[in-house]
Amino acid sequence: PPITLRSLSEAIGIKANQLMRRMMDLTGQLVTINTTLDEDAAIELALEFGVELAIVREETAEDQFDRLLEDARAEETAPEHLQPRPPIVTILGHVDHGKTSLLDYIRKANVVASETGGITQHIGAYQVEQDGRRVTFVDTPGHEAFTAMRARGANVTDIAVVVVAADDGVMPQTKEAIAHAKAAGVQIVVALNKIDLPGAEGNVNRILGELSAEGLIPEEYGGDVPVVRTSAVSGQGVDDLLATLATIAEVYEYKANPDRPATGTCLEAEISEGRGVIATVLVQDGTLRVGDAIVCGEGFGRVRALFDDQGRSIQEAGPSTPVEISGLDAVPTAGEKFAVLEDISQAREVAETRRTRSRGASLGETKAITLENLYSKMAEQKVKSLNVILKADVQGSLEALIKEIDKLENDEVPVRILHRGVGGITESDVMLADASEAIVIGFRVAPEDRAVSLAEEKQIDIRRYDIIYQVSDEIKQAIEGRLEPEI
Ligand code: GDP
Repeated sequence: PPITLRSLSEAIGIKANQLMRRMMDLTGQLVTINTTLDEDAAIELALEFGVELAIVREETAEDQFDRLLEDARAEETAPEHLQPRPPIVTILGHVDHGKTSLLDYIRKANVVASETGGITQHIGAYQVEQDGRRVTFVDTPGHEAFTAMRARGANVTDIAVVVVAADDGVMPQTKEAIAHAKAAGVQIVVALNKIDLPGAEGNVNRILGELSAEGLIPEEYGGDVPVVRTSAVSGQGVDDLLATLATIAEVYEYKANPDRPATGTCLEAEISEGRGVIATVLVQDGTLRVGDAIVCGEGFGRVRALFDDQGRSIQEAGPSTPVEISGLDAVPTAGEKFAVLEDISQAREVAETRRTRSRGASLGETKAITLENLYSKMAEQKVKSLNVILKADVQGSLEALIKEIDKLENDEVPVRILHRGVGGITESDVMLADASEAIVIGFRVAPEDRAVSLAEEKQIDIRRYDIIYQVSDEIKQAIEGRLEPEI
């Protein structure tokens, strides 16, 4: 909060009149008891009266919110409190390869029949148990949702299952999915699905080769990517898939501290008639309880009720548990983080600060990287690498481009190609660029309409070329700060 002459007077025990008079002498300006001072001025003015003013910064509610999330991320700070938690899994892959069917099969086969015998409801995520080991699935498949969350700063996924239909093989969206998963730095497991189809087995070797070409070397080829044969129709291999996921969780030791205020991410939210705002959240650290003061995005409130993925009312939810909550006063957006604060007034304070801020948000500085601002962002140490998404008209030019870009070795900012592909610039490319602070380079290809509008909204730099050396030239110039801004 700002320091007024009144509060300074109270703090140092000097009459406000005296402070005002001295202040006017010093500045030559009219002041009132409500005139505010910055810290240095307050310290100086106090010194005029022989008082050494120490400014103790009280943690604001927003600071506290940030700190909770920070702590939650720095899980290793208190290893003695950490306990294993189930892995959080998202399913990605080409359209029609069986993402939804696999999610449905896993849910139906493994969720204990609900006591009421009612229909299990969809709440955006669910948890299953196999041999005493639990796995949490995010129930919105596809890399668009995955990357949209990441663009909001939410990394909820530990493991991505990339579904590849055995009768089809690696397709354009499979490649996108792999790029998105890699850019997020999550573990990858491949489900070679539709293995029940006649002739599927005969394609397996070809597909393993296609996966290797995308940098996913299957375990059976000596790599580290498990490839599990599955069928969402017969259920073949689904247990194997669950066991593989649980084993990865054991190897990577995903952990969290259940004995702290909960933090996590909103997966989806809506207003429901009669129940108010209903949000599905994933608890990522700590334990969420009925009655907790919570803030999520611009919403806040006390958790009125908690429901698990089978619609049962519960009192608390620990790490990696998806729950439906009611009690927020505004609808948060998927991907926004939540945190439990000490009391409801703090939660209100954070939410209200955000509401005011978002009204004036359009004035905010752009965060997106462009070739033009690369150099200044480098100088401010805001970029560690130049991330590039590369699309070209044909495979030949793509390879030639990659070769040229690889030659651009430099120590300051390595150039990382997050995704490469043949074809026009898609919405998915722009989303990946947004989530990964990348630029998009199109070589003799145009962006699709939806990609153009999303790029405008997110201020993503899409650059188009038709001469190979121009691409590497401009990148080089940008890194060296010699790139002339485009008119
Ligand atoms: P998504 O677009 O990736 O979510 O794919 P869907 O789950 O909607 O599946 C697309 C189609 O493939 C549907 O008709 C499914 O019934 C079918 N399908 C999915 N998995 C399998 C499978 O393992 N075997 C067979 N034979 N068909 C499958």
